[in-house]
Amino acid sequence: MEIKKGVAVSPGISIGKCLVIDAEDYRIPRRAIHLTQRLTETQRVRNAFKDATEELEKLRSEQKELKVRDIFAVHLSFLKDRSLRKKITDMVQDEAVTAEYAVSKTLRDIASHFAREKDIYIRERAADIYDIERRVLKYLVGGMRQDIRELTEEVVIVARELSPTQTASFNKDYVKGLATGAGGRTSHTAIVARSLGIPAVVALEDITESVTAGDTVIIDGNRGIVIISPDDATIQQYLEYAVEFAEMEHRLDAIKEKPAETRDGVKVSLYGNIEFPDEAELVLKRGGEGIGLYRTEFLFLNRDTEPTEQEHYEAYARTVGFFKSKQVTIRTVDLGADKYTQSRRYIREPNPFLGLRSIRYCLQNLTMFKTQLHAILRASVLGQVKVMFPLITNLQELMQAKMIFGDVMEDLDDEGIRYNKNIEVGIMIETPAAALTASMLARDVKFFSIGTNDLTQYTLAVDRGNELVSTLYSSVDPAVLRLIRTVIQDAYKARVDVTVCGEMASEPEQVMLLLGLGIRKLSIASPMIPEIKQIVRSVTIEECNSVARKVLSMNSERQISSFLRDSARKILPEAF
Ligand code: PEP
Ligand code: MG
Repeated sequence: MEIKKGVAVSPGISIGKCLVIDAEDYRIPRRAIHLTQRLTETQRVRNAFKDATEELEKLRSEQKELKVRDIFAVHLSFLKDRSLRKKITDMVQDEAVTAEYAVSKTLRDIASHFAREKDIYIRERAADIYDIERRVLKYLVGGMRQDIRELTEEVVIVARELSPTQTASFNKDYVKGLATGAGGRTSHTAIVARSLGIPAVVALEDITESVTAGDTVIIDGNRGIVIISPDDATIQQYLEYAVEFAEMEHRLDAIKEKPAETRDGVKVSLYGNIEFPDEAELVLKRGGEGIGLYRTEFLFLNRDTEPTEQEHYEAYARTVGFFKSKQVTIRTVDLGADKYTQSRRYIREPNPFLGLRSIRYCLQNLTMFKTQLHAILRASVLGQVKVMFPLITNLQELMQAKMIFGDVMEDLDDEGIRYNKNIEVGIMIETPAAALTASMLARDVKFFSIGTNDLTQYTLAVDRGNELVSTLYSSVDPAVLRLIRTVIQDAYKARVDVTVCGEMASEPEQVMLLLGLGIRKLSIASPMIPEIKQIVRSVTIEECNSVARKVLSMNSERQISSFLRDSARKILPEAF
């Protein structure tokens, strides 16, 4: 039995046989195979090249841009190069390694050779080779992923790292738990796990090296513990613990119909965060009053092509359909950083979280941006739709986004399509720049939504998904709290609505603090709605104000965290 401590990111307990995924972002570890497997692996190489060639030929024939067709032609010539394939199959034969390792190693060697050349033309070919590598590996590793989608028995997944796309494609009926080496509490993978209701623990470092496929594993998503090959007594203890947890969840469900109101009668609005339209139903079931954050970029993540305007529209119409007159806040796509764009670039950005991400990406990809805005506007007549721009850093960016929105409205006018001309436009406050200039930005928006995940990351200069610095990442750091307070004060002064939609709003221990800072609207992961409501119903605003006052007088994150934990325990002992 081995116990590993990580970071709990999605609550619940699961016990099951584990399935190990070790190909992360196609960086393939060297894995030896038995000599008798060499023939099968060689055949896998050939099949993957064949499939990749067919796919590329199809893409090329459909491509209208001449330049892109030329690039595809170059890639095709590589894929059809027999000597290249032979080099790879020879490696499988001579070194007895897996097909994916031989493909990756051979192509990366060629790419790094190109990258060292003086001639810029040859140097740029390195990016082509990486692209070919990804394309071929998609068929090798992708096959494995397909297996995951076609599971027939319950498993817990152990992986070095999972992309949000992979996590989102898991079949919830069979994937009962997740444990990853990488990641932090607010990484997008963690967010997806939480919204799917799959217990998950991240930041377990070398977990993949400690398990073998088929081992029994316990995932304790409440305490951030993973137990590999537990003994019988531990399994028994966890089975009981799982029953207790389910009972508590059941009790919380019972408060669904009750209002989210403090003991002294102050109303708090609780909305849900969603990534997919289907989750909207879950938000309703859990007692959410609408959607405070719809992360629409997830529309892009399970596919190779951009969604069409109609696909955007259908997703929004479906979501709004669940809520009718309740608000649905659609955030325009937040692509970039860890989502979507990197794997499609020839040359990766050196600092993607500081790079072409989010609204910046949209403002440089206007056709895509306008397509989405057009669909949002079309859906705006179906209910109470609001639109929200992410990662705003300055007023100019906001004005540009609004101007484009205005252009799209004019397009709809010209096309004679009905839309809500008074649709509310808001922004996410998730950069220190936006927080510090909130009073200026407030003049041009109807609402703010504080994205504490990114605000924390950018304020503290700590990557939200990097387990090496996860202990430095905290939304209750005094620096972050001062920015949040500024935003709330400026919002009130300007009479602009303010919500918190980052994970902080889903943290039971931090809710009193947010209420004490003046927040009355929270947008949270749907499984957490009942628990947060329970807390809201157990406190008075005076108690919350006092918590906030004390916290703001403290100067260390540690002191604040432990004080918040104690305060929450006093209020609701059974939940902590
Ligand atoms: C945030 O940054 O807090 C947020 C809600 O946006 P996301 O987690 O999608 O980056
Ligand atoms: Mg964000």
